[in-house]
Amino acid sequence: TPLLEVRGLTASVKETGQQILAGVNLTIGTGEIHAIMGKNGSGKSTLTKVLVGHPHYEVTGGTILFKGEDLLEMEPEERSLAGLFMSFQAPIEIPGVSNFDFLLMAVNARREKSGLPALGPLEFYSVVSPKVDALKMDPKFLDRNVNEGFSGGERKRNEILQLSVIGADLALLDEIDSGLDVDALEDVANAVNGLLTPQNSVLMITHYQRLLDLIKPSYVHIMENGKIIKTGDSSLATSISEGGFKSIAALV
Ligand code: ADP
Ligand code: MG
Ligand code: MG
Repeated sequence: TPLLEVRGLTASVKETGQQILAGVNLTIGTGEIHAIMGKNGSGKSTLTKVLVGHPHYEVTGGTILFKGEDLLEMEPEERSLAGLFMSFQAPIEIPGVSNFDFLLMAVNARREKSGLPALGPLEFYSVVSPKVDALKMDPKFLDRNVNEGFSGGERKRNEILQLSVIGADLALLDEIDSGLDVDALEDVANAVNGLLTPQNSVLMITHYQRLLDLIKPSYVHIMENGKIIKTGDSSLATSISEGGFKSIAALV
């Protein structure tokens, strides 16, 4: 079974009933890197939000299987515990909760689910500390409240720290390259590449070739008007960066 199988997925904004996703088909196998590209407003972020069960959207049709199980039957927390991770374009602040405590809670929730004993703070520190170093983050980060007062670049690094500490079978990375300078992008890309194993997969959304030069996709999808209209290999991304999305329209 594929890791993720999306069939005919349609979804609307709950409040207004406006349809955003208009029949998405997407299959992701284990150990694969997928990239979704597409013009602003084509529905890329909405797709990832629907996958994690964001409350602003209502699924009106289609199916989503994650590891063979009906994802739509699962609460957002269950999806996360089942191994789905999402980075947010604008990550949320959690007042009063330090990064360290947040990560420890997240890790222990997963350990509990797997029948493993909880990690204590000291034990956990030895796990998290090398990952903080690898992302060239200041260790003081751990004491700060989740995302509070973080710069754009700090937030992005912090999201990838969350991913590397918590782990995931499928990581949804929405524009992790936005607002990162070249050096920061390289650190983040190295961290993501370091997490990839034959057992897990990544779905990343980006406008830019430069991210795809650093994290090489096995598949590139083009989204338009709430649908994936074309799938190809990494050369598809090259065509887009050279000729724009209109160059693709001619191929569809
Ligand atoms: P992308 O990530 O491809 O830029 P989005 O998924 O963010 O696109 O948005 C797709 C379309 O749906 C846009 O026109 C956007 O304005 C609209 N949309 C998405 N979420 C909402 C929402 N919660 N309320 C109203 N409109 C929304
Ligand atoms: Mg957008
Ligand atoms: Mg978006």
